[in-house]
Amino acid sequence: MAYELTKKLKSVDMYVPVEGSCKVRLDANESCYNIMDRLGEDILDEIKNTELNRYPDPSAERVTRAFADFYGVPASMCTAGNGSDELISLILGAFLEKGDNVLTLTPDFSMYAFYGYMSELKVKTLQKEDNLRVNVAKVIDYCNNNDIKAVIFSNPCNPTSLGVVKEDIIKLLKNVFCLVIVDEAYMDFWGESVLDRVTEFDNLIVLRTCSKNMGLAALRLGFAMASPSITTALKAIKSPYNTSTLDQAAAYAALKNKPLITEYTAEIVRSRKALQEALATLSSDFGQIERVYDSVTNFVFFKSSKSAEICRELEKNSIAVRKIGGYIRVTAGTAEENEIFLSALKEILAGME
Ligand SMILES: *Cc1c(COP(=O)(O)O)cnc(C)c1O
Repeated sequence: MAYELTKKLKSVDMYVPVEGSCKVRLDANESCYNIMDRLGEDILDEIKNTELNRYPDPSAERVTRAFADFYGVPASMCTAGNGSDELISLILGAFLEKGDNVLTLTPDFSMYAFYGYMSELKVKTLQKEDNLRVNVAKVIDYCNNNDIKAVIFSNPCNPTSLGVVKEDIIKLLKNVFCLVIVDEAYMDFWGESVLDRVTEFDNLIVLRTCSKNMGLAALRLGFAMASPSITTALKAIKSPYNTSTLDQAAAYAALKNKPLITEYTAEIVRSRKALQEALATLSSDFGQIERVYDSVTNFVFFKSSKSAEICRELEKNSIAVRKIGGYIRVTAGTAEENEIFLSALKEILAGME
């Protein structure tokens, strides 16, 4: 008898990262800096002292404490995950029951709906406003009127690049009964974190990752911050050795060098501002860029009805960006990468007129 995949698996839309090997990669919101250039010695020293014959520390204690110190939060409320991706999957799978309603906002990070679907949840979607901003009053109403068990969203948002201010997140936390999962993957580029409020709200989980401002996407390391009762449950349900010893060691070396990470982060913010200004200028010169959003992240999001053609042409120039429907998301690169991207884009736009 032929083995049949389940119905659930047959209708999965796979997440397909941009393929191929473009020279300029501005498609995945990675850091444009390789921390090995500055911290290679420290990282190798840490790795040299590992015991590869032993299983990893299941609670990733040393790196978790370094993470907690970095942000000034209690280590007892942090759980390390194999990227925040794993934590999203674990939380949706274990903190909700099959068939429960989980609320996502759209547009937002597509993995929330994906993991919700895989966990057999009912994934509800609330459309954002026309300007792509979140109307928190509508989110509160939706949660309270539709038996929502958890709401999950990124703040600042990937892909819109827009942020919800802390005051609004607090309003949400105070007015709903469900679990609120705030994915702050890009919060280091902004200043409206609710990380320090996990001690106050027992329905809040804040997710952080080492993949973006820290430039450690190759390691797979993310953290969930939550109340002691959520943290205990999360540690109990994760697989015991979810983060590798090498990931823990390398991230430890990085987290111990806060000034360097802060310097990189500031540099990336400068780059994003320059990129955004240049795109705004192109937008006033060329009708095909209809709108450039006010980013608080390490990428710029803009609207173009010619997004497919633009991405195709950029790829011919070995430049990767991400097309999301009628929009394009472009990661802030080094000054040189931005320049290569911008001059190619200008030429493409001029050729379309
Ligand atoms: C990049 C990103 C993550 C990071 O995931 P990791 O698994 O930690 O690399 C999480 N959430 C959002 C919204 C992201 O854009």
